[in-house]
Amino acid sequence: MPNMSPNKVKMPEQDPNIRNKNFLEVALGYTKEMAIEEAQRCLQCKNKPCVNGCPVNVQIPEFIKLIVEGNFDESYKTVTSTNSLPAICGRVCPQESQCEKLCVRRVKGEPVGIGRLERFIADWYMENSNTVIEKSKKGGKKVAVVGSGPAGLTCAGDLVNMGYDVTIFEAFHTPGGVLMYGIPEFRLPKSLVQKEIENLKQLGVDIKTNMVIGKVLSIDELKEEGFEAIFIGSGAGLPSFMGIPGENLNGVYSSNEFLTRINLMKAYLFPNVDTPVKVGKNVAVVGGGNVAMDAARSAKRLGAENVYIVYRRSEKELPARIEEVHHAKEEGIIFKLLTNPVKILGTDEGWVKGMECVEMELGEPDASGRRRPVVKKGSEHIIDLETVIIAIGQSPNPLIKSTTKDLATEEWGGIIVNEDTGATSKESVYAGGDAVTGAATVILAMGAGKTAAAAIDKYLRHD
Ligand code: SF4
Repeated sequence: MPNMSPNKVKMPEQDPNIRNKNFLEVALGYTKEMAIEEAQRCLQCKNKPCVNGCPVNVQIPEFIKLIVEGNFDESYKTVTSTNSLPAICGRVCPQESQCEKLCVRRVKGEPVGIGRLERFIADWYMENSNTVIEKSKKGGKKVAVVGSGPAGLTCAGDLVNMGYDVTIFEAFHTPGGVLMYGIPEFRLPKSLVQKEIENLKQLGVDIKTNMVIGKVLSIDELKEEGFEAIFIGSGAGLPSFMGIPGENLNGVYSSNEFLTRINLMKAYLFPNVDTPVKVGKNVAVVGGGNVAMDAARSAKRLGAENVYIVYRRSEKELPARIEEVHHAKEEGIIFKLLTNPVKILGTDEGWVKGMECVEMELGEPDASGRRRPVVKKGSEHIIDLETVIIAIGQSPNPLIKSTTKDLATEEWGGIIVNEDTGATSKESVYAGGDAVTGAATVILAMGAGKTAAAAIDKYLRHD
């Protein structure tokens, strides 16, 4: 008999007043018993509506059934037959707008906790399984993957499993891309990202770090080195700014720099590590997406007393996941909604001392269908601050575009591809993830990596 409880089995979490002072993971994961209880909520629908919501086609009812049966090894194999990064997806995928959105249990309550179960099975495998990962037989044609974020890792994983000789080129000293520099430790432990990458290495993927493609080697030089196909998954690392006065003051960070210092360079352990990060007592994060929530929650953990999210629309329009907004509020982040910065104010020495803002109200819908914020007359006010973090989006780094002839890109920098294959305008070169779409989600990047891997295989087999 299925478990007909309308609610998901609750996942234990660190207390908000304790966790907002540490960088340990917030959500603690299911125990075996909790996972089986939650898995029993799945009705094993014949038509599998949930699978239609998964960009990498995870066989959801099958892996959940194996959890109910206690066959965790097989359950893990079922998940990883289509998803090479389950511990990551189980934590950071927006399941509420994908698989769980289509789950039939939503009709009378909460959907099955598919993400929580995926996380459970991946964590269980890492802790308990003795299964040795078999190295794929190399010897196939050489494929280069540029970037080791979710798109690159997925593409590389699929290609190595097909027998290709895959080399990933990563610009940083540590592989993982946005999973390492963008998403904080308290949402996605870095040791776990490295373990998933280790699994790919064991499969035979070769990873070369400190290799900035577009500078050390160009795409054309990779071709000359014998790579018969190339996948570009170089992400979106170029931060956007607002173009208001004061953005060059000391104490203004792009979210990209702020989070990289903390996540990749471990600034929260300074002076035991080389890279510091300075937050004062009062910090404003401008923006309302997941990156803004990550930056705000990180600033709080670094000791800031007042951390504000400054967002020009209302709560309803916040692009961040509801869960992230909820966690941020629990941790004491202050939301200044319908508020827009017009100027960052500085001291005579050039340090941030405040931000002038205006209040907004929502007018008629704009081209995106969202109601356009308009300035409320006479609403100018100043927030006292020492740090401002700009989290209003990122676009692809222009390096590859500027050094690769025949690679068509959008005006804003995104590489133009055939959506069905990931093929670019350049023969044998494919692309996917944030380098194509601008900053989006981990799972969409993984889906693009998967699509491109299939297309590269077809291309190299001359089908
Ligand atoms: S839709 Fe929900 S209940 Fe049905 S198979 Fe998928 S997870 Fe299970």
